[in-house]
Amino acid sequence: MTLSRLSVRIVRGICVALLLVMTVAAFSLGSVALAQGTPTPAAPEDGVHGELDGPLPARTEGDAEWHIGERLYQGEFPDGFSFEIAAESSAGDITSARVVWVHSPGSGTQRSRGAEFDPERGRWVAHWEPASNQVPPWVLVRYHWELTDEQGNRYITAEKDEVYADDSNADRWGHAESEDVVVHWLALPDEVGQQTIDAMAERREFYRQAWGGLLPYRPRVILYGWTARPEYEEAMGNRPILVAGTLLAGTTAADWGGTIQIAQPGSDTRRIAYGTVLHEVAHLYQHQFTRVTPDWFIEGNAEFFSMARSGDYRAYARQRLQSDDPLSFAAGFATSGENFRDGYWIGTTVWDYLVETYGLDAHRRLWELISQNVPRNEAIEQVTGVSIEQFEMDWRTWIGVTSLPPTLIPSPTPLFDPFSFPTPTFPPSGA
Ligand SMILES: [Zn+2]
Repeated sequence: MTLSRLSVRIVRGICVALLLVMTVAAFSLGSVALAQGTPTPAAPEDGVHGELDGPLPARTEGDAEWHIGERLYQGEFPDGFSFEIAAESSAGDITSARVVWVHSPGSGTQRSRGAEFDPERGRWVAHWEPASNQVPPWVLVRYHWELTDEQGNRYITAEKDEVYADDSNADRWGHAESEDVVVHWLALPDEVGQQTIDAMAERREFYRQAWGGLLPYRPRVILYGWTARPEYEEAMGNRPILVAGTLLAGTTAADWGGTIQIAQPGSDTRRIAYGTVLHEVAHLYQHQFTRVTPDWFIEGNAEFFSMARSGDYRAYARQRLQSDDPLSFAAGFATSGENFRDGYWIGTTVWDYLVETYGLDAHRRLWELISQNVPRNEAIEQVTGVSIEQFEMDWRTWIGVTSLPPTLIPSPTPLFDPFSFPTPTFPPSGA
């Protein structure tokens, strides 16, 4: 199969509409616990309860004594997962039970399911089955139960960490993790695990300074080699991955806290780790710390974090800005189509220029202002102290172009959905 004419993009789905489907699955047994009221833990210093802060302990509201029996989780990738719990309250019947889970603790996204009581088994049972909101294998499932009795007493169980494992292929997957990242790979050389860990460690302080903090969860990086295309397509919800010459190379989503990517044949694993992964993780930072409207500004920003660039972006920008094409901040730069490199590569140079001239702290302050709803150009003016027109001229001069930006023309309406993230790291070599 020739891949030379493919352009590449990522589609990110964040639909949270869930289906309630009750099933009784074959559960493995969990531990049995007798639970009574326990104190609420202190909030972490930054107010965000992240993954490495650990699961929260149980807490109660009211004065009932609660007896919590078996508490079970069963992953059934790719068909979802199920939960069961046996519980009693001293104050009366339990009238409602709900299971709540997060994949990316601290991201602000959670999902939940009401449970039904199975009288034969004496347990509350809940099942989640993916619809359009498929999540990849190996995401974290940190969950707890919320139980209410007929007197209105409540018991919130301790959180528990599970993994949405791909059990049917378990022995083919590679896995490695560190304080920065959890990486799983299929049909790729094992080096990609350590390379991903190394890349994330090398970028850690840069991310921290650029955003003012680290992600509250460890991103899940799920990588497929080209021969694992069927498994990749399954994990993507069985969408076709080649559509009208466009390869869906992956998806990055804050609500499940990671990125899933397929590598083209012959891909250099170091480029995946130091290029693709660092770029996609930057998108997770964008979602964590600011407001995102995908375009060249966002893609250039993500690519700014890559440590394996696809070319000499400054030279590319110089050549493109000297062409007859009307390229300017006001017109924007394409992130799809024939000139998709404009958005990625020229966009990156804007961030290179900003940080080289005004420091990495300017990056943090700029996004902070944007997260407070300050329009982008105003935010740039506040951080740099120069007008947006002057900033654009200064940037062009830094690129090596002395002409004025072309006459302002309106930005085109984006053709892709607002959660699409094209990836720059598999550029079509023949385009
Ligand atoms: Zn991107």
